[in-house]
Amino acid sequence: MGVFDRAARLARGDQQETYPYQCMSCGADLPVQYHTCPECGSYDVRATKWIDD
Ligand SMILES: [Zn+2]
Repeated sequence: MGVFDRAARLARGDQQETYPYQCMSCGADLPVQYHTCPECGSYDVRATKWIDD
């Protein structure tokens, strides 16, 4: 899982923006903006729309 998997899903257009947040440390897709990532405990959870690659 990660940003590339997510990008691939979006590119195919078969997945809407169900997980608008993502952990920058482990790449977990998150439905809400957690203060800390539930997967790895990182504080670096960002809205994916702010991620520009
Ligand atoms: Zn994480």
